[in-house]
Amino acid sequence: MRYYWIILALAWIAPARASLSGNERLTIAVFDYAGMPGATLRPAVETARRSFHAAGIDTVWSICDFSGVVPRECTAPLPPSGQYVEMLVVPRIAAAIQSAAGARDVGGLALSNRPRAYAFYSTAQSTAALDLRPASLVLACILIHEIGHLLGLSHRLNHGIMRPNLSAREMDNVASGRAFDAWEMKRLRAGAVNLSITNR
Ligand SMILES: [Zn+2]
Repeated sequence: MRYYWIILALAWIAPARASLSGNERLTIAVFDYAGMPGATLRPAVETARRSFHAAGIDTVWSICDFSGVVPRECTAPLPPSGQYVEMLVVPRIAAAIQSAAGARDVGGLALSNRPRAYAFYSTAQSTAALDLRPASLVLACILIHEIGHLLGLSHRLNHGIMRPNLSAREMDNVASGRAFDAWEMKRLRAGAVNLSITNR
């Protein structure tokens, strides 16, 4: 009987916590297969977190290091599989796989049948060198773009962060906290709600 009340209390506390800020909540697991330095990954995650927060979505990020022989424990506990976004950062992807998936993105790939996307670290590095921007900022833009797809955004009007090709202008907008416009923010929030309902 005591357990019944504890479960009831938890059931009440969980939605209350979720609505404290009035924002949607989303867990994002970064599976690092590229062995990224913390000096690149940490600021990238922080920039992406701020971008989604500005759109009304509180993201909880868990970093899981898969770059070694033995995977390290994730930095935050993960919900059951399917109930969070899987963001796999891989060194690179074969062009054949990318074209077979019908992907147009230069730096990543988002699946349509499950909440999973990929970011290509080698592209982040080469773009950073070409556009004279930090690799962490380029990686942040790729994370934001691909998670944007998972939450329902397309290459609308071919502008802003949802362009398939990144330019320095979009990167600078993201760096100054202007990743999404009002229409995109609304769509993202709806996508976050759908994702949590679909996977509940
Ligand atoms: Zn895209």
